[in-house]
Amino acid sequence: MAETPEQKYNRIAAAVQQTILNNFPNPNRVGCPGDARVREVAARTAIVEDDDWQHITHCSECYREFLAAKEELRRSSRRARTLGLIGGTALVIIAATFAGYKYIGETGLGRENVAATYVPATLNLHDFSEVRGSEKPTQRQIPTLPRRALDLTVILPFASEAGHYQFQMTDGAGRIISRGGATAVIRNGDTVFTTRLNLSEATAGGYRFGWRREPFDWVSTPVRIIHP
Ligand SMILES: [Zn+2]
Repeated sequence: MAETPEQKYNRIAAAVQQTILNNFPNPNRVGCPGDARVREVAARTAIVEDDDWQHITHCSECYREFLAAKEELRRSSRRARTLGLIGGTALVIIAATFAGYKYIGETGLGRENVAATYVPATLNLHDFSEVRGSEKPTQRQIPTLPRRALDLTVILPFASEAGHYQFQMTDGAGRIISRGGATAVIRNGDTVFTTRLNLSEATAGGYRFGWRREPFDWVSTPVRIIHP
């Protein structure tokens, strides 16, 4: 007998859960937001795709805690008769997560490398300055990133403001191979944000890394992805 839409949905949701639980090991708990914030995300009644949400859906350990917190909420709310709302929200979050993975799959970057190990890397744009008009490009060295799954720290150009940034990596043909958002903070005088960037499926070569602080325009710099 053919499965019902609900059965199909539940099957996909379960598969997505397993994917997140297995494919984003983070034993050193790099970048984890902590128990209180995981609980806060679990208690939300609508999806907010902020940094915490992004992290939790890309960190097996946090996702496990997130599911446990959801379950706890579900139990304690049974008496409060809000089960329907919270249960529904959990499914919506799984559906949105699934949509995100589908997107990553289409970009060809997120194909599941089951034992993806994220290695720390830094993209230092501290001395970046935009080349204008007819000025000759300065002979700055093009920064490199290893072709690996990266726990990436981006040091933004000197005197960049803290706040919410979008970033994207484009290939030689201008196609976006990865993008995301992160909140930059000032740390030891540098403006810094951290993100996970899986380059393990990318072809080595020339790319551009672009960033913008909302609502300002994109700025970008060449980068090279190299074999580690
Ligand atoms: Zn985590």
